[in-house]
Amino acid sequence: MKLKHLMSGLLALSLLAGCTGGIAPSPTPSVSQEMEAHNKDTFAMDTLMSFTAYGPQGQAAVETAAKEVVKLDQLLSVTGEDSEVWALNHAQGQPTVMGEDALALLTAAQALGRATDGALDVTLYPLVKAWGFTTGSYQIPGKDTIAALLENTGYDEIAIDGDTVTLPQGMEVDFGALAKGYAGEKCVKLLREQGVTSAILRLSGNIQTIGAKPDGSPWRIAIRDPESINNSDYLGVLELVDQAAVTSGNYERYFEYDGVRYCHIMDPSTGAPTQNPLTSVTIVGPSGTACDGLSTALFVMGRDRALEYWRSAGGFEVILVEQDKNVWITPGLADQFSLKDGLGYTLNILEE
Ligand code: AMP
Ligand code: MG
Repeated sequence: MKLKHLMSGLLALSLLAGCTGGIAPSPTPSVSQEMEAHNKDTFAMDTLMSFTAYGPQGQAAVETAAKEVVKLDQLLSVTGEDSEVWALNHAQGQPTVMGEDALALLTAAQALGRATDGALDVTLYPLVKAWGFTTGSYQIPGKDTIAALLENTGYDEIAIDGDTVTLPQGMEVDFGALAKGYAGEKCVKLLREQGVTSAILRLSGNIQTIGAKPDGSPWRIAIRDPESINNSDYLGVLELVDQAAVTSGNYERYFEYDGVRYCHIMDPSTGAPTQNPLTSVTIVGPSGTACDGLSTALFVMGRDRALEYWRSAGGFEVILVEQDKNVWITPGLADQFSLKDGLGYTLNILEE
């Protein structure tokens, strides 16, 4: 890795020398210093995050990003008793003053809820709990229980007035479908403010990139094979420049009963885990928050509705993977995505 950076540094140095007829004098930082990678790993939002930024500002920038995700985790955690989300969920119908991050997320969640006709609904937490996804003690709740819990859901009933938010009594909000995307997007802003022009942030299945690699080539990320046991295989490689890519899959948290898989992505129209042939949905676009919300929502929608939504809304690209091993990609990704051979998948490129 280091050798590669040094090599690209040397190449750039020789090009620079070729252009200017000499090497720029100090105190301009040397090109190899500009190319150096700075890494920081941190555990937040129940997952390992790994940040890499290039350039002289890189180390300070990744440290700032790591602090930011830990702070956001504390603010937005649905289980942490000190979080703003906890305060909101336990306010018994009373107004709660929220900070700017929670407000931004609530506003984005509502907008995406409306845009996706309710496929994304951040008020499903009581159902997520009832099925056991918060504890791992899985169970299939009775029809009456589900119907009663659904009564207390509905993203449109979150009342936002300036910095004050009111939830109807019994309603609970959970940012599980959006928080990592929001965190990644916010970290990208912080890194850019510090002058970083080349970085990759990995927040579990959420990837955020700034610019390209220091050598000018795109970032290359592996998309997980949903059928792979223990994440041992990848479906293909996606190239990114200045984009976010977020995947939702039925392999993340699930249980099986009587040959049926129940995954952690809930269908708001049934109050049950989503049942359709999709095994994963990847969204590529400029905003991590939107990509994260849409990866969950399009998974709920299933292939046909998801593609209808992509055609009408636009502004992002999609990779859909189905149980029958068909992979569907939108045409904007035709040059960015390559399928791995030998896994039995068929690649289908959609028409505009
Ligand atoms: P993701 O992995 O981004 O697809 O988000 C899934 C997480 O979001 C779940 O673990 C739940 O906490 C929450 N969730 C599940 N279904 C939905 C849904 N339809 N809308 C919003 N949040 C959901
Ligand atoms: Mg999501």
